[in-house]
Amino acid sequence: MNKEEIDQQISKAVISCKKCRLCKTRKKAVPGEGSLITSVIFVGEAPGQNEDEMGKPFVGRAGILLTELFKKIGYERSQIWIGNVIKCRPPENRAPMVDELRNCAPYLENQIKLINPKVIVTLGRFALEHFIKEGKISRDHGIPQIWKGRVVFPVYHPAAALRNPQVGIVLEKDFKKIPQVINDAEEMIGKVKEKTTDQNRGQMGFL
Ligand code: URA
Ligand code: SF4
Repeated sequence: MNKEEIDQQISKAVISCKKCRLCKTRKKAVPGEGSLITSVIFVGEAPGQNEDEMGKPFVGRAGILLTELFKKIGYERSQIWIGNVIKCRPPENRAPMVDELRNCAPYLENQIKLINPKVIVTLGRFALEHFIKEGKISRDHGIPQIWKGRVVFPVYHPAAALRNPQVGIVLEKDFKKIPQVINDAEEMIGKVKEKTTDQNRGQMGFL
């Protein structure tokens, strides 16, 4: 199977998924969309009302802002991949529950393995904490860090920027760092690999 076929298989599984209670209240599941040969992906929390109706990620007001931010750094939506940690809308946009997350997380995990991006931009607190448990969005936004051989770059959620213009300014500032973060990613990943290899050797008595 080629990349596109595997991607379609994951999307099909998401669309017909009944692994958690959210399947009962969703209109459409939202697998995610975009390029499968991108070095950067953007990951939000869960679909909202508009996404639930369209079956596509970030198509509401937050999505319009996100698309504007892409344009400002010279990206088209079709060049990158956008998805969510949770694939079906929680009723009234409540926070996802632990068991929903446990059931849904393997889809995103497989999508990440398939696309193999160097950089994962997390949108908002929930997506950050999904990758980095001890993450804190107010402290960590705009600072790239290593997660399982990739760079995670946390930024505020565009919906938070819509609620608070100050957050919007910070979000745009962080967004403008993304091209450089992608440029530097390989080196950053390499350095961490070198360090852990050295540490392992040290522990094993080779150094
Ligand atoms: N908010 C999210 O986190 N994801 C979407 O797809 C839309 C809004
Ligand atoms: Fe399946 Fe995820 Fe939707 Fe739950 S949220 S039904 S696990 S796709």
